[in-house]
Parts: sequence; structure tokens; C-alpha cells
Amino acid sequence: MSLSRRGALGAIGAGLAAWPALAQKQMFDPVGGGTGLSLTEAQLTAGQALLAKHPSVDVHAHPGRFFLRDLTRQNATTTAMGTPFEAKALTDMSVGHVTAALFNCVSDAVLLEASKTGGLTFARQFEPGEAWADYQRQIGVLKAMVARGDAARGLNGGDIARALKAHRTAAVFAVEGGDFIEDRLERVHTAHADGVRSITILHYHPNQIGDPQTEAPRRPGLTPLGKDIVREMNSAGIVVDLAHASFGVTRDAVEVSSRPMMISHTNLKRPDVDHPRLISVEHAKLVTGHGGIVGSVPSGIGQKTTAEWINSILRLIETVGVDHVAIGTDMDANFMPVFADYADWPLIPSALLARGLGEAEVTKVMGGNFLRLMAAQVRG
Ligand SMILES: [Zn+2]
Ligand SMILES: [Zn+2]
Repeated sequence: MSLSRRGALGAIGAGLAAWPALAQKQMFDPVGGGTGLSLTEAQLTAGQALLAKHPSVDVHAHPGRFFLRDLTRQNATTTAMGTPFEAKALTDMSVGHVTAALFNCVSDAVLLEASKTGGLTFARQFEPGEAWADYQRQIGVLKAMVARGDAARGLNGGDIARALKAHRTAAVFAVEGGDFIEDRLERVHTAHADGVRSITILHYHPNQIGDPQTEAPRRPGLTPLGKDIVREMNSAGIVVDLAHASFGVTRDAVEVSSRPMMISHTNLKRPDVDHPRLISVEHAKLVTGHGGIVGSVPSGIGQKTTAEWINSILRLIETVGVDHVAIGTDMDANFMPVFADYADWPLIPSALLARGLGEAEVTKVMGGNFLRLMAAQVRG
């Protein structure tokens, strides 16, 4: 999930204070600005043809809000998000030719509430055993999804190549928030055995690893345990995802990690748009300068239409290079999304091609760069 605690977008904060339950629901509703794209039939066809030929990967997603399935201890935020709808999401992904997505559990889902200033924050701390139990619930939902054949297996590039051939969508298991690991390094390996291939080490809750970018930092960077967890993820073959992590955590992770990493869902700050969930050029280049990737997110932060999001993707490509950019939609838990339907997935390659990128370049952004990153997580 992609919200900000500080609520730099003042209007959103004001709404939240007045109508917490309604406003929390509205956080996840599309902005409603339309796509803003004007594509010809031929341009649309070109995007669809590219997706039929090349694997595409959404590097950060919560399709159908599966992480809420079988959740017994609801809070105002999870209640506002409503009933999960995995079947609809998977149908849309098939229609849109999404080859794979990182299906993210939400480690701190049970802690989240609307903050007084807008966005999300944590309402309380975990009870003993709670984080681990909730990880197991959510991973159980994902395992059942694959066991039923609703989604294809997504353990490696081979699985994703097979999903493309079979016109299926592969679920790459992931977790947003490393809270569930606690101080038990062996859980990193358990997660890998469960099929987890990426962990976003921070979310909204400052945890044993470090502080999120949406809180005033209490610690300069990674904790000693956080450094051990990054090393353990390297050794297990799990992608370190630095979305939501503070600059200090990111700087330390780059120093510690022996593998390239990613920031799965963010965008660059602009002179006219600043927000705690956006990153500086220096922040992005820390990760991309070491072979990593940055996923561009279609959130309502500084973007009102899909076309404006395409501009953000192009800005990233210009800044860090086409080999280091990916797409991370945060579907279906994104903050006021400007792109909210997997059936529209072909609009992204269509628009990028229409803006002058070549087929090879668009193929990298749509999935190739993530597949390279995944292949680089050699277990050691
Ligand atoms: Zn997020
Ligand atoms: Zn998310």
C-alpha cells in the first residue's frame, strides 16, 4: 500500500479527519480524471501485440485485496477496503495479458489506521506471535490460489515464461513489510520455501529492520538486525524491496546487499510535487547504480490521469536509464489510483511506444528488467 502518514496533500487530510471511514474507502478509489490518453487503434494494437510476445510483470500488487481473505480481526482500514475480489482481479489480468505480478501480503495490515493528518499510520504494536500468524494466514491464501489453479506458479523466470505461453498469470509471492521475520533469521528461508521471492522490508510500521520514509526517522538507517536480514535475503535468493524505506535504510542496504535490489512502487520528486512517498534522484540512483530497478506507481500523488503517470515513467527512464525502470501498480490497494483496471494493462506499452520508445525498450520496462533482477538473486 502506498499512502502517506504526513498527508502532504492537505485536502486529503482534511477529508480524513471529518469522515474517517468514508475517507479511508475513498483513499483506494480511483481519482476519476480519466486516462487522458489519446491513442489510435494501431497504437493500441501495437501494445497488445507486444504483451502477447513478451512477458510483462507488475512488480508490486495486491490483486483483489487477497490479503484480507479470512482476516478475523478487522480494523477500520481493513473494513473500509471491503470484501476481497481475487477472481475478478485474475480475470482482468488475463484480459489485459499480465504475465505475472508480485502478489504482496501486507505484514502490518492488522496495525493500520487513518492518521489524523491524512494517509495511514500504525494504531498499535503487534501482540506476541501475531505478525507471524498473520503472515501464515496470507501465504495460505496465496498457496490455495495457486493450488486451485486460479493463478500459475511464479517461482522463477521459467515459470513466468511458461505462463506467457499458456496465456496465464503467474503469482510471484511477496510480502510488504518485514515485520513477520521478527528476529528469527530462519524465517527468511521459510518464506523462500513458501515461494516468497521479494520482501518490502518496511511498510508503515517502524520495525526491527528500520524506519519507513513516512515517519520522522528515529534511527539513522538499517538496524544491526536489519543488516543481518538483508544478508539473509541475499543468501536465500529473495529480492530486497526498498519501497517505503527511509533514505538512510536505502543507503545502508546498498552497502550491505550483495545483490541488486528494487524500489517497487514510487516516483521521482518534482520541483512542484514533494511528498514523503516520492524519492529524490539521488535516492533512486543509489539503487539503480548498483544494478537495481525502480517501479513507477500510478498513485494520485502528483498525478491526475494515466497520461500524467506515463510522463512519470518517462521521467524515470530519462533519469536512471531504461534498464532500471519497471511498473509497480500497487493494485488493488493503491492511493487514489490513476490506473485501476488490469484490463487496461495494454495501455501502458501502447502509450510508451506512442511516445517514441522502441519495442526492446518497452519490453524491458514491462517485465524484462524485473526478470533480470530475479535471475540475479542467486542463492549463495
Ligand atoms: Zn506500498
Ligand atoms: Zn502495496
